[in-house]
Amino acid sequence: MQAAKLIVLTGPSGVGKGTLVRSLLQRHRELHLSVSATTRTSRPGEIEGKDYYFLSREQFEDMIQAGELLEWAEYAGNYYGTLRSSVEKRLAQGKSVVLEIEVVGARKIQQSFPDALRIFILPPSMQQLERRLRSRGNDSEEAVARRLERAHLEIAAQDEFDQQIVNHDLETALQEIEAVIFSTELPR
Ligand code: 5GP
Repeated sequence: MQAAKLIVLTGPSGVGKGTLVRSLLQRHRELHLSVSATTRTSRPGEIEGKDYYFLSREQFEDMIQAGELLEWAEYAGNYYGTLRSSVEKRLAQGKSVVLEIEVVGARKIQQSFPDALRIFILPPSMQQLERRLRSRGNDSEEAVARRLERAHLEIAAQDEFDQQIVNHDLETALQEIEAVIFSTELPR
C-alpha cells in the first residue's frame, strides 16, 4: 500500500485555488483538506471551522509559541497557519491531506515534509489575475494592491514546485492536478 501523501497547492490569491480544491475534494473523498487558522476577518459566507478558524492576533501568536502550527506565514497583513495536530493525526491514520497555502508556508513544509507533493497554480495572465481579484469585490483597493504585489513574488517562485499548472479553465486544470496526484494510487 502507498503511504499517505501530503499535497500542497500554492498559487497567487485570485488564481482559483479555492474552487479547484473544493472540486478536487468533492470528487475524491479519500482526500482531506486541512482547515487553516487565520487572523483575517471572515468574508461573507465563510464558516468558522470549515473555511478557516478565525483567530485574534493574540490567539494566533499563542499557537505559534506553543508549537501548535506546522507552518505559518504573514500574508497581506494577516497571519495564516496550518494546525499541526490535525495534519499529523490524519497522516498517521494513512489519510492523504491537502494544504492550500502560500509560498512561504510551502517552503517550510518542504523542509519538514520533503516527500510532500507541491503543485503551483498559475493564472493565464497577470491581467486575468487582476480582473479576478477585483471581481471578487470583497477586498479594499489597498488589499487588492497588496495581493497583486505578493502575486508577482509568488509567481517568481513557481520553479521551486514539483508541478506548475495554468488555470485557463477549471475542468482542464482539475484534470491536470488529478493526473499529478493520482499517478500513484492513494490509500482509501
Ligand atoms: P485568503 O485570504 O485569500 O483566504 O488567503 C490568502 C493566502 O493565504 C492564500 O494564498 C492562501 O492559500 C494562503 N493560506 C491559507 N491558509 C494558509 C495557511 O495555513 N498557511 C499559509 N502559509 N498560507 C495560507
